[in-house]
Amino acid sequence: MKIRVDRVKCEGHSRCYALAPELVDVDDLGNAFELNDGIVPVGLEERAQLMVDNCPEYAVEIVEG
Ligand code: SF4
Repeated sequence: MKIRVDRVKCEGHSRCYALAPELVDVDDLGNAFELNDGIVPVGLEERAQLMVDNCPEYAVEIVEG
């Protein structure tokens, strides 16, 4: 599984980081970016989906199942 953060849509709430700090980090403005090229380690798939479902800007997407 692989995720991607759309930096244009991201408004920097850091909600994704609160849910899954293993998968994303945030810059000084609170805007998120993917760790590890967006590759989701085995076992963290549900957390990735949680991030997708909880981003208020719909900025996180799963790009590879
Ligand atoms: S929850 Fe969405 S809008 Fe907020 S920082 Fe994460 S990707 Fe950006």
